[in-house]
Amino acid sequence: MKSQANSINIVDIGDEGEGIGKQEGLTIFVSGGLPGDQVTYKIHTQKKSYAKAQLLEVVKPSPDRITPPCEVYDTCGGCQIQALNYDAQLKLKEKIVREALTRIGGFENVEVNPILGMEWPFRYRNKGHYPVQGTSKSPVIGFFKQHSHHAIDVKDCLLQDERFAIINQTIRKYIVDFDVAPFQPKTGKGILKSVMIRKSEKTGEIMVVLVTHGRKLPMSKTLVANLIAKTPDIVSVIQGIDESREIRELGQDFKLLYGKETIVDQIGSLTFEISAQSFYQVNAKQTEALYELALDYANLTGQEQVYELYSGTGTISLFLAKRAKSVHGVEIVPEAVENAIKNAAFNQIDNMTFTVGKAEEIFPELVASGGSADVVVVDPPRAGCAPEVLEAIIKVKPKRIVYVSCKPSTLARDLKRLSEEGKYALKAVQPVDVFGHTAHVETVVSLERIE
Ligand code: SAH
Repeated sequence: MKSQANSINIVDIGDEGEGIGKQEGLTIFVSGGLPGDQVTYKIHTQKKSYAKAQLLEVVKPSPDRITPPCEVYDTCGGCQIQALNYDAQLKLKEKIVREALTRIGGFENVEVNPILGMEWPFRYRNKGHYPVQGTSKSPVIGFFKQHSHHAIDVKDCLLQDERFAIINQTIRKYIVDFDVAPFQPKTGKGILKSVMIRKSEKTGEIMVVLVTHGRKLPMSKTLVANLIAKTPDIVSVIQGIDESREIRELGQDFKLLYGKETIVDQIGSLTFEISAQSFYQVNAKQTEALYELALDYANLTGQEQVYELYSGTGTISLFLAKRAKSVHGVEIVPEAVENAIKNAAFNQIDNMTFTVGKAEEIFPELVASGGSADVVVVDPPRAGCAPEVLEAIIKVKPKRIVYVSCKPSTLARDLKRLSEEGKYALKAVQPVDVFGHTAHVETVVSLERIE
C-alpha cells in the first residue's frame, strides 16, 4: 500500500531532465521519471515548494518509452531522455518552449514553429572528453556519473563517432600493456588524466589529445603507431601537459606527438581551424541550421550596424558579417575572442570587431557613448541576459533583435521585458534540437520593434 500512496504521474521534465510530478501542490522532481510515466518515488530532499526524489519503480510506463539503445543509460546520466522515442523527445521540447513563453513570458496564443529535429539523432557530436580512471590493470575511460567525479567505463557512446570507441579501446590496451597508471586526484600520483578526441565533420579528420599529469608519457611512439594503425583518419596526436589535479583541464603546455596541430571543419560557407583548445560547436550540422535562422531573422541588407552580445568564438558574427556593414561582438572569455579574431582572418572577413568583457558592463557603456545598432543579436548562457543588457538594448532601439537561447525559461523572462518595456513584437519562435537525447532545447527568436 505504501508504494501506492507514493505513486505520481510525471507530467513534465526539469532543466536537468528530471521528471516532474505534482502532489498536493508540491512539485516533485523524480530523476529517471519521464513524461507519461506513473512512478513510485522516495523523497530525499524536501524544500518548501518542491522536493527531490529517487525513482523506485515505473508502475506504468509512458507509451512513448522505449528501451534506451545505450548500455549505460542509467548510470551515465548524459542522455537524460534517451528512453523516450525521438518524436516524443521533439514534441516534449516544443511543449517546453511553448509553455515557458505562456507561463513565464505571459504571451498568449504564441505561435511556436515545429522544432527542427535531426535526421538521425545519434553520433552527432564532434568532440568527446573522457576522464581516465581506474588502475593500469583495469582502466576506466568514459564519462563522469551524473553529479560526481567518479567515471564509468563507456565502450561506445552513441552520441560519438564509432571511431572514438576504437581510439579509446587502443588507449585502454596501451595502459594495460605498458602499465601506465591513470592519474589519481587524491594522491596526485599516476600519469594519464583524460583523453580528448575531436573530428571534422567535413573532412573526417581526427585529433587525439592525451592529457597527462606532468611530461612523462611512456612508450608514446608505440601508442601513436597503434592509434594510427587502428584509426587511419587520425591526423593529429597531441600531449596536453597539466600540473593541476583538475580532471577536466586540457593542460597548460601542448606537445605535438604526431601530424598537425589543427584540423579544419566547415559550418555553412565558413571554414574553421580547430586546435586542441579551440571552442567549437559540438554539433556542427544543427548549429548551422540554428545560425542560418539567426541570419535569416536578422534580415540584413548590407547597411546595418550589428551588435552581437555573448559572441563566443564569433560564429554567429561571422555569418552576419557577410551581409552587414559591421558587426561588433562582446564576449567575456578572452580566449574565445582570440579564436573569433582568428576565425575572422581565416575567412577573410574584415568588418568585425570585438570587445572582451561583461556584456552587462560593456554594452551599456557603448550605448551611453553614442553607439548605435540596427540589429542586436544575443546568444547568452543559460542564465539569459543580464537586466542591464536588456535596458541597454531598449535604449538603443534596434529595428530587430535576434535572441538565440539555450534555456526556455530565461528566454521567456527576457522576451517579456523586451516586449513590455521595449515595444518589441515576437515575429518568429523556432526551437532547434541541437542536443538530442538530452533535456537541452535551443530556440531562435525574431523580434521587431513596433513603431
Ligand atoms: N554564439 C557563440 C556561443 C555563445 S555561448 C559562439 O558561436 O561561440 C554564450 C557565451 O557567452 C559564451 O561564450 C560565454 O563565455 C559568454 N558569456 C557568459 N557570460 C557573459 C557575460 N556576462 N558577458 C559576456 N559574455 C558572456
